[in-house]
Amino acid sequence: MAPQYDAIVVGAGFGGMGAGIELDRLGLSNYVILEREDDLGGTWHVNHYPGLAVDIASVTYSYSFEPNPYWTRLFAPGAELKKYATHIADKYGLRRRMRFGTVVDGARWDEEHQHWVVSVAGGENVTGRYLLTATGFLSQPYTPPFPGIDTFAGKIIHTTAWEDDFDLTGRKAAIIGTGATAVQLVPEVAKKAQALTVFQRTPIWVVPKVDTAIPAPVQKLFDRVPATQKAARLFNTSLLEALMVVGVLNYTKAKPLNKAAGVLAKAHLRASVRDKETRKQLTPHYDFGCKRPTFSNTYFRSFNQPHVRLETNSIERIEADGIVTADGHKTEIDTLILATGFNLWDVNFPAIEIIGRDGVNLGKFWRDNRFQAYEGITVPKFPNFLSLNSPYSYSGLSYFTTIEAQMKHMGRLFGELFRRGEHTFEVTEHANTEFLDRVTDKLGSSVFYGGDCATARSYYFNPHGEAALLRPTSTLNAHREAVSFPLDDYVYGKSA
Ligand SMILES: Cc1cc2nc3c(=O)[nH]c(=O)nc-3n(C[C@H](O)[C@H](O)[C@H](O)COP(=O)(O)OP(=O)(O)OC[C@H]3O[C@@H](n4cnc5c(N)ncnc54)[C@H](O)[C@@H]3O)c2cc1C
Repeated sequence: MAPQYDAIVVGAGFGGMGAGIELDRLGLSNYVILEREDDLGGTWHVNHYPGLAVDIASVTYSYSFEPNPYWTRLFAPGAELKKYATHIADKYGLRRRMRFGTVVDGARWDEEHQHWVVSVAGGENVTGRYLLTATGFLSQPYTPPFPGIDTFAGKIIHTTAWEDDFDLTGRKAAIIGTGATAVQLVPEVAKKAQALTVFQRTPIWVVPKVDTAIPAPVQKLFDRVPATQKAARLFNTSLLEALMVVGVLNYTKAKPLNKAAGVLAKAHLRASVRDKETRKQLTPHYDFGCKRPTFSNTYFRSFNQPHVRLETNSIERIEADGIVTADGHKTEIDTLILATGFNLWDVNFPAIEIIGRDGVNLGKFWRDNRFQAYEGITVPKFPNFLSLNSPYSYSGLSYFTTIEAQMKHMGRLFGELFRRGEHTFEVTEHANTEFLDRVTDKLGSSVFYGGDCATARSYYFNPHGEAALLRPTSTLNAHREAVSFPLDDYVYGKSA
């Protein structure tokens, strides 16, 4: 029984779209992209809260083969990323492959027919020879189970479900959470709300954001002389690479540089916040780099405004008209904004149930053993499966680095498969173990294990305390290995 599709991609964010572009390039054009939302773009479709912008300069945070000369700022606002995603989908003919409003429940390897059976909510099964999951890391919104939240009588908004027409003017608002989203959102809410209380559990390192509008003549130059934008990308990407390799991955050898970043962030805090006690509360007690760094010139300053207050006591319960903290104090509010982020490790590894060869359940395998994936993309016992949001897949700071390394990996792997005239591939246990040993070894010199990350509550760490998200090598290494991994790290076979 032939499968319906050459390939099934789950997720229509930049990862799923990159996979689609590569599938077309490889001639596997009979594919479908299944997406639970009503449109494409993933992160940049779902998130549209005020202040949303990229935290990696846009010359770098985009596909290298599809530069956009018309970014309006160094760090483009979220809406421009959504527009860029739409442009990519149109230019590469991806939209006609996408099925929106399609929630994928799970996937099972059909040994007899040597293809994947993907189950979709509602009972439909879709079959494909290859399965690629691009379900994202930051894609499953999280709301902590605050006691009493159901009794709150005012307006509750999670940042992933922002209502663009909701007017904050005159509101008594609370923002729970001080992660990267809150750093962007707090200054915007402060502009409109009558009162704003920010509930902080873990302070975040914030460094100044060197952002500016990109004047029209520069945009024109980027358009007419693409080499100029390429040069800007190379410059910025090199800076990010240095930050990552030196400050995060080789922390034990380059501690002073990492510490210097912390000193810069502290100086930024001192220069921005007048009140000494607030400054103290906003100072992290973990090393710079344990969490993804954030950039802002306005977050800290927001706390100087008389109507903005930082609350560091833990939340005890939520009542109909306010939030009660452990010290018994009640903050009266009518608007509750949840900047509480995403659940990564419990529900996103993997985001759907995946059953491979011999009935092995991927989520159980990762939890019973260790989180692992060869080159951050394939797993033994899961033939014809590419898990694009895997342990150790996130390479560097711009996610496009990961996407393009994975596209290269696909090119080499499928190229060999076709050369051999085969239809199935599976990574060997040996290659997978060797990769896991290598990344484990390398992590030893990173800030995650060499530094003090105990109080960071960073999503880089899984519940076992392993920093199993980032690939602890340079992005150059990731790209080099994507085009040169030993071809016999895989076994290849005929389909049924
Ligand atoms: C607010 C925010 C700002 C960010 N800023 C940056 C930045 O500046 N720089 C950077 O490098 N990264 C940033 N990121 C990370 C960002 O997620 C990645 O850069 C990138 O967009 C991920 O692309 P993706 O396609 O892998 O995942 P996503 O964009 O998350 O897309 C995953 C898609 O899979 C779909 N999906 C999930 N489960 C299912 C299912 N069961 N069935 C069907 N569909 C499903 C989702 O609906 C979603 O559309 C940011 C993330 C957030 C949340």
